[in-house]
Amino acid sequence: MKPLNPPGGTSPALVGVALPEVLDGISTALCLVHPVHLMVVAANGAALALLGRNERDCLGLRITELCTTPHDLAFWHEVSLGMDDRITADTLLPQPGGAAPVPVTLRVWPLPAQGLLAVEWVDCRALRRVERALDEQVAELQATLESTADGILVTDLHGHIRNFNRRFAEMWRLPPELSGQRDDDAVRAWLRAQVADADAHDRRLALLDGAPLVKCSDTVALRDGRVFECVTLPQSSHGLPVGRVASFRDISERLEASRRIDTLALTDALTALPNRQALAHRVDFLLALAAREGDPFALMFLNIDHFKHINDTLGHAFGDRVLREVAERLKGSLRQVDTVARLGGDEFVVLVHQADHAGAEASARRLLDAMQAPFLHGGLSFTVTCSIGIALHPLDGHTLDELLTRADAAMSSVKEAGRASFRFHQARFDAEAVDGRSRLRLDHAMRLALPAHHFQLHYQPQVDMRTGAVGSVEALIRWHDPVLGDVSPGEFIPVAEESGFIVAIGAWVLREAVRQAAEWQRTGLPLVVSVNVSALQFQQEGFVDSVATALRQAELAPEWLELELTESILVQDVNQALQRLNMLARLGVKLAIDDFGTGYSSLAYLKRFPIDRLKIDRSFVNGLPTDESDVGIASAIVNMARALRLEVVAEGVETAAQAQFLREAGCDQYQGFLYSRALPAAELRARLSAP
Ligand code: C2E
Ligand code: CA
Ligand code: CA
Repeated sequence: MKPLNPPGGTSPALVGVALPEVLDGISTALCLVHPVHLMVVAANGAALALLGRNERDCLGLRITELCTTPHDLAFWHEVSLGMDDRITADTLLPQPGGAAPVPVTLRVWPLPAQGLLAVEWVDCRALRRVERALDEQVAELQATLESTADGILVTDLHGHIRNFNRRFAEMWRLPPELSGQRDDDAVRAWLRAQVADADAHDRRLALLDGAPLVKCSDTVALRDGRVFECVTLPQSSHGLPVGRVASFRDISERLEASRRIDTLALTDALTALPNRQALAHRVDFLLALAAREGDPFALMFLNIDHFKHINDTLGHAFGDRVLREVAERLKGSLRQVDTVARLGGDEFVVLVHQADHAGAEASARRLLDAMQAPFLHGGLSFTVTCSIGIALHPLDGHTLDELLTRADAAMSSVKEAGRASFRFHQARFDAEAVDGRSRLRLDHAMRLALPAHHFQLHYQPQVDMRTGAVGSVEALIRWHDPVLGDVSPGEFIPVAEESGFIVAIGAWVLREAVRQAAEWQRTGLPLVVSVNVSALQFQQEGFVDSVATALRQAELAPEWLELELTESILVQDVNQALQRLNMLARLGVKLAIDDFGTGYSSLAYLKRFPIDRLKIDRSFVNGLPTDESDVGIASAIVNMARALRLEVVAEGVETAAQAQFLREAGCDQYQGFLYSRALPAAELRARLSAP
């Protein structure tokens, strides 16, 4: 650096100031300035370059000419008043020719030996560029942080909060005062108060604090029911861990949706009861419990009696309503821990926890009781009964299949025995199941049995309550099959009704019963013979004619024949039924309503039909005279029959006490094992002529 000669007229004392050679080699811009006039007396190469001037232009330049703001002027004014320390300031250095001023850091310090000031400019353009780039990056990161749908929390290695995004604050419902100020303790306390299990939350944090490199992903349940999925990743700088980034995603809806799907897959749509699959889960659970704790349980197979009639006669919408109400009643009569599931159709399964024989029996009775109150639908009032088969674990089976099969078999045996009751599995039903008496097989065998004369009629006496005389008998079909053995009508009649073969069977029964009645007439045994008529048979076009023909061919007077019809016949097509019943009545045959009380005939219909007798269903006789509801129903039927001037017959009378109650209630006749089972014609004659 050469000493500079200031321009003429200025302070000649300053001209030719010698700079130490070393300053010229310095890479920052440096010049020497007169402390009072602030005139440049020397400048190094870097200074000339930064100022964009040559040596000549620089020399004698007043430093205040390089000011860009009033602030700079004030600064130099201060300096000119005297300084003894080093001052630093950021400013802009103007460039010749209107080029953009250069940002610099300005440093000034006195050089007392020379009586000058040293002025140094550090070019900040590169630094500013880096700062701007950094700012942009930070802004970009911030925007990224804010644009994600996840809540993000950034912490340092000590767990201090460094940043979180707005979504995080929203998700955790941080109060505004907490989102604004960065009060770690308050924010942490807030988060802790939101989670459902604060202790687990603490443990999780402690675990993460101790393992800065661990990646982890888990779920956090909140007290308000929401569930967050949380993924925590380590954050590192230059290969060293510096903190963690935790992202939170609200998965409550997703969970809820999948829960709904689960529920749908496990629920019966009609009744909202657990379905077969759910039942399997629960049985698995009970089996595991039984293996561990030794708790027994009962599985009941429950089927609605005559449900097909309800569906056929009143329609499916109506049937659905009945199923829903049955479901409600079943649920209502069980304990919370017990389960009722619907398998489909009118089949339900009940699981009774910790139930032995006695417990299961009590539950079964409660279930049957729950059906007692009449069902009321669309002005109709009717009774629905159920048949229940019970299998016990571990006694009757070790798997759902075994238990179901056995309970089903027990249920079928209830149906055979007249429905509306319950039964426990007994080993012999197994033999039947193994026999493979499938419906198809039965149907096929029946079609062979009719031409092969394997059907037979037995006759069960109906006894006058007051005189003890037998004036009538009910014809009941019997089938002894050479392969299948004895098959009870409770088993094969429903199959025949479903397949339609009942029409052929019914025609045979009618002819045979009428023939027998006529023979008894001729041989001095005048008995009215009652014949069961199925709905399908009754609906046949030529039914009335076939009755007339049978009577004519056997030469039997019509008053010795009675037809037993079920209530379902009467409500199916009321006008057609009425027309047909009137034709039969005109023909002179008697008409009875069978299984009265289990159907849904209304009083209004009964009054219009030419009926002679009502038969009280066996299920209402069973509990007499102790069961209150049986007492109520039986009495009500008798009273109603009297009011309508109909005779009443009670079915299934087995004990003297039942007979006595019915007699006192005003019942006209009874039928049942108390007097006799159904007997072959010859045995009946012997029984009746015995003293
Ligand atoms: P149902 O018409 O209600 O017949 C009465 C059933 O109760 C008969 O069963 C009879 O044996 C039984 N029973 C009679 N007294 C007693 C008693 O004191 N205690 C008990 N526990 N049971 C008693 P069965 O013969 O097994 O007939 C079952 C059902 O099969 C009949 O019920 C009827 O619906 C149907 N059925 C029988 N024969 C015919 C028929 O020829 N044609 C049609 N369509 N159905 C028939
Ligand atoms: Ca009958
Ligand atoms: Ca009956």
